Amino acid sequence: MTAEFDLIARYFTHPAPGAVLGVGDDCALTRVRAGHELAVSADMLVEGRHFFRGADARALGHKALAVNLSDIAAMGATPRWATLALALPRVDARWLREFSAGFMALARKYKVDLIGGDTTRGPLNICVQIMGELPRGNALRRDGARAGDEIWVSGRLGDAALALAALQKKIKLTRAERAACESRLHRPQPRVALGLALRGIAHSAIDISDGLLADLGHILERSQCAAEIEFAALPASAVLCRHLDRVAACRALLAGGDDYELCFTAAPRQRARVLAAAKRAGVAVTAIGRIKRLTKGVPALLVRAPDGTPLRLKGAGGFDHFI
Ligand code: ADP
Ligand code: MG
Repeated sequence: MTAEFDLIARYFTHPAPGAVLGVGDDCALTRVRAGHELAVSADMLVEGRHFFRGADARALGHKALAVNLSDIAAMGATPRWATLALALPRVDARWLREFSAGFMALARKYKVDLIGGDTTRGPLNICVQIMGELPRGNALRRDGARAGDEIWVSGRLGDAALALAALQKKIKLTRAERAACESRLHRPQPRVALGLALRGIAHSAIDISDGLLADLGHILERSQCAAEIEFAALPASAVLCRHLDRVAACRALLAGGDDYELCFTAAPRQRARVLAAAKRAGVAVTAIGRIKRLTKGVPALLVRAPDGTPLRLKGAGGFDHFI
């Protein structure tokens, strides 16, 4: 349909200085610098599953790219190119303008070229593929954690999940508290600079999209290690701290999704370099525990309560201490 080509030309055709050929041909063409590897990932946002019907289009454009940049950050890669596959229920000029503005503002900030995609009619579905570059062999992988490593997280955890819990009426927040947390849910800030700064320092890294316990669990599984973390050390916002007597808040902190912070491990002697890297990247980092040797019959992930006793964990994604 011609409407499709008009729409692509109007909203999704932008200069792509970092590519050989951008939007408009059967394929885009790019070149990876000599001695580098290509880091590739895709993340989909589906209406009704990842966002509510009627969600703000500009925030969606931002988030669709931000969650992909977060994966690039977690590998320590430099983001370079993205593609965008869109299913749209109807052609809505206002929605497209807003979505594209949100997407492109973040793309410009990180010098990511939108080099292609696909546009079709269907239930609203947004799939972004991101590509980045890394000097060969320098990726921050999930399988590099070693016993003795300190475990770190960036930023603060749980606010996004707290906002979602409030939207679902599982917890009551004041209007100001909601506003503070909702910006974390709708406008996550990918930790690209931190990922880059941690190259050559961190042994392993992952971005926290499904909650700290689940995502740290992936590092443990891939690295064949165990871990102990201190509940009291977890970085929480003032809002979350105020509600820590509530199950929903504890859950948000330990197992909430959509944080898009980095969880990484590094040798204790690298502490000063980790802190310097975080300072350069302009984001706070907090040491929350230690990587241990895996022992048969002992849970791989132990969370210590403030009184030193272990919280009883239920699977990787939950815990039954508060239930
Ligand atoms: P084809 O039929 O060969 O798949 P399309 O008609 O789907 O080509 O797309 C034409 C051009 O527009 C291609 O370069 C494609 O990558 C690009 N494109 C399509 N949809 C989008 C989109 N939503 N964002 C960016 N580029 C897009
Ligand atoms: Mg096509």
